[in-house]
Amino acid sequence: MRPTAFSAAGRFWRGNLHTHSTRSDGVLSPEEVCRRYRAEGYDFLALTDHFVGCYDYPIVDTVPFRTDDFTTILGAELHSGAMANGELWHILAVGLPADFAPSDSPDFHVKPGQETAAELAARAVEAGAFVAIAHPQWSGLTLADARGVTAAHAVEIYNHGCAMGCDRPDGAAIADLLLTEGRRLTMIATDDAHFHEPDHFGGWVMVKAPGNTSDALLSALKSGDFYSSQGPELRDIRLFDDRIEVDSSAVAAMIVQGQGTAARAVHGHSMTTSQLDLERFGNSPWLRVTLMDAAGKRAWSNPIWR
Ligand SMILES: [Zn+2]
Ligand SMILES: [Zn+2]
Repeated sequence: MRPTAFSAAGRFWRGNLHTHSTRSDGVLSPEEVCRRYRAEGYDFLALTDHFVGCYDYPIVDTVPFRTDDFTTILGAELHSGAMANGELWHILAVGLPADFAPSDSPDFHVKPGQETAAELAARAVEAGAFVAIAHPQWSGLTLADARGVTAAHAVEIYNHGCAMGCDRPDGAAIADLLLTEGRRLTMIATDDAHFHEPDHFGGWVMVKAPGNTSDALLSALKSGDFYSSQGPELRDIRLFDDRIEVDSSAVAAMIVQGQGTAARAVHGHSMTTSQLDLERFGNSPWLRVTLMDAAGKRAWSNPIWR
């Protein structure tokens, strides 16, 4: 079988799903943020400013910055309710309506009685958004925290801002535990760019869709028709009973992960087709693929259920 990201009609569009501007705590105007992403070869961008009262609950209208080869998806980073560590939740919502009702979130501090993160995430999904648990490692998220947000579609497997700013970029550990509990989550790499440090153009999604429109991209994101990358291109995955084959741009390692300790790698030089036998993965209902190029840049498939 082939994951639908590779068998579905359309082509891959490159985009960043997590970005800030002067409408919250970012450095650049929405227009300049869009200009820079387009200039860097991105096909689309979701501007996701912090949806809190001190910034007037921004869902920034980026429609004026669309061009014939660049589109935008409206969104926000939502905040409400406490994590187990007592701090405020961060939930990424891509594809929100401009009139999405504010939470009762005056600032970045937990307010007693406000909506829980689970309730806010469910409300965003209900409103049409693709919802992800943002930067689990940076947040100090526990497995119980993540387990509670049942409406989420995805987890940030890599957050470039958290990599550059505090060396806490990772979401794979918690995502793998959730997959092992049967949660059908996908995984996104994002920038979380604020442009006050080198936090941009470092992690993105490649979304397979028939057209570069907000609706087509959102639909593909919800269907899991995408992969994430820092550089390498993932071109095809073919899964057989006993082995997996992966086509890609030139990489130095192809790693397959499954539940528990199940993981194996094949290393080489300038590999464009890599193959691994799956004997080691007998008990795992899911597999995922990580590629690494000679510079250490990675690409991540979504989980494949079998
Ligand atoms: Zn955040
Ligand atoms: Zn953010």
